[in-house]
Amino acid sequence: MYPATFEYHAPASVEEAISLLERYGDEAKLLAGGQSLIPLMKLRFASPRALVDVNRIEGLDSIGEDDGHLAIGALVRHKDCERSEALRGRYGVLGDAAPQISDPIVRNLGTVAGSLAHADPQGDWGSALLAAGAHVEAVGPGGTRTIELDELFQGPFTTCLEPTEVVTSVRVPDPGPRAGGTYLKLERKVGDFATVGVAVHVSLDNGTVRRAGIALTAVGPRNLRARTAEEALAGATLDDDTIREAAELAAEAAQPRSDHRGSADYKRNVVRVFTERGLRKAAETAQAA
Ligand SMILES: Cc1cc2nc3c(=O)[nH]c(=O)nc-3n(C[C@H](O)[C@H](O)[C@H](O)COP(=O)(O)OP(=O)(O)OC[C@H]3O[C@@H](n4cnc5c(N)ncnc54)[C@H](O)[C@@H]3O)c2cc1C
Repeated sequence: MYPATFEYHAPASVEEAISLLERYGDEAKLLAGGQSLIPLMKLRFASPRALVDVNRIEGLDSIGEDDGHLAIGALVRHKDCERSEALRGRYGVLGDAAPQISDPIVRNLGTVAGSLAHADPQGDWGSALLAAGAHVEAVGPGGTRTIELDELFQGPFTTCLEPTEVVTSVRVPDPGPRAGGTYLKLERKVGDFATVGVAVHVSLDNGTVRRAGIALTAVGPRNLRARTAEEALAGATLDDDTIREAAELAAEAAQPRSDHRGSADYKRNVVRVFTERGLRKAAETAQAA
């Protein structure tokens, strides 16, 4: 099916994009990689009156250290993350997630920021970035605001972004020198959305956990943080008992539903196994750093 007719704008700056969004109100949609929006438009689940294409705005396509954060610009594609050296080691949760997103065609075009704005509970970036403690910077008519991902995700395909706001970057706090993490994804076949995904990110201080982030994909109405598991890890040594307890708590935090991909019990068990496996890998990387 073809999308309904729409007006098309390609602004050269964030300011211009915002004034276009103000002109159309909630009848306009930003277009980044188009890998979620265009399929929705073709199915007529979305019929915006205007598209505001941000791809020609300069300065939004880099990954770099900035003021104690790793800053990922709004036009950074999944494939840029897959290839980036900056996303290995301490930021391994991000580097491991990138190549597991769909196929090369989607990864060449789709953006990290677009994924967060789309807020699909099956989206991989939501969990990887929640675990890493990331926030987004959103610019609107009133200026720039910082939005923690926990606040950004309101429910399935719903965020707290205003229709006139543009996410300009995703920012991940520097986890310190001894950090590691990973993203584990169960999919029916290569390129599929997650049946279950688990993101784990830990930073250590003198051998104990300074901060732990655990987030879950496709087992709830949004990407979920396993908070009780994170709290059980804080200040602890990552030994077998602690890891097993945290994995049990993460499984309890999951809210899976039985469907054609598997039963709720099966998915909960995958969360437990992946959390345990992820914590062991994260500990290994962090201790070797
Ligand atoms: C076949 C297929 C398989 C896929 N498999 C996976 C998968 O396995 N895992 C996964 O995580 N994802 C998957 N996706 C989704 C993919 O990752 C998309 O790239 C992503 O969800 C959206 O990013 P985009 O840049 O393409 O955004 P777009 O499609 O351009 O936009 C998506 C939404 O975000 C808004 N938006 C975009 N940029 C901004 C911004 N800067 N500020 C504010 N709002 C913005 C748009 O207005 C729109 O509402 C798949 C997609 C396809 C087509």
